[in-house]
Amino acid sequence: MNYLETPLQELKDARLDKAGVRLLVKREDLNHPHVSGNKWWKLKYNVSQAVEEHHDTILTFGGAFSNHIYATAAAAKEVGLRSTGVIRGERILPLNSTLSFAEQQGMKLQFVSREAYRQKNTPAFKDELEKQFGRFYLIPEGGTNSLAIKGCAEFAEKLKEIDYNYLCLAVGTGGTMAGIISSLKGERKIIGIPVLKDANFLHNEISKLVHDFCGHSYGNWSLLTSYHYGGYAKVTKALLDFVSAMKDRHDLPLEPVYTGKLMLAMMTEIEAGSFPRGSTLLVLHTGGLQGNY
Ligand SMILES: *Cc1c(COP(=O)(O)O)cnc(C)c1O
Repeated sequence: MNYLETPLQELKDARLDKAGVRLLVKREDLNHPHVSGNKWWKLKYNVSQAVEEHHDTILTFGGAFSNHIYATAAAAKEVGLRSTGVIRGERILPLNSTLSFAEQQGMKLQFVSREAYRQKNTPAFKDELEKQFGRFYLIPEGGTNSLAIKGCAEFAEKLKEIDYNYLCLAVGTGGTMAGIISSLKGERKIIGIPVLKDANFLHNEISKLVHDFCGHSYGNWSLLTSYHYGGYAKVTKALLDFVSAMKDRHDLPLEPVYTGKLMLAMMTEIEAGSFPRGSTLLVLHTGGLQGNY
């Protein structure tokens, strides 16, 4: 897949000056027009594995607004593979912009009931899909598997030359964070902002992903689990106002599902004095802007 080098954007803001903190945003949202942000890194080795194993189809799962579905459809098309998206819920016409884009990329959309969707990780469900669609390369919902973590570890490798103390990112499945933890090997500090409610399970989940991937455990990371603003894809007026202010005042495009929550969480923590003066925060813009359109 094509990759564009991405800039670092330094945020200039009175609240940062007051706290004596620098905030750098790695604009990884700009790495590809469609397979953007962390999705590019999560798909990189999966796509090449699918090609190597002579698959002609990638099959994956997601909700109707999924960045992962959107990115997988575009990635498969770019490397000349077919794709199938198993989508939770009914087909509602007209399709929203995420699903109509996926279909334009050639993705076959298979809508399944919420009850059936819950069975998606069972062998019986996979057999059923194989009967229907033939052989395919399977990527789990959210795109997290060991090849995705490998890609995210490589991304973190690229960030090592930047001078920072804290690396901050939004967390869904935790796959991206697991790759970053594995790559940094205990150096610097990593702060994850889960975007879903009741995210305490992610402590164990991420520890396990890291250990399974690299055989080590590290203690230089933490999750701040109270910045979900009501739950996954839930928003508050304050969050939406913040997202539009970041665009207007700082020319920083965010969306309310992942990066808006992340950035508001970081600004709140900075104002609360959570970081020593003189600290530099590196905040990852993991993309997802398709959801805004
Ligand atoms: C998918 C996504 C995430 C979450 O990544 P995980 O590896 O599942 O934790 C974060 N930010 C954006 C913009 C995403 O699309």
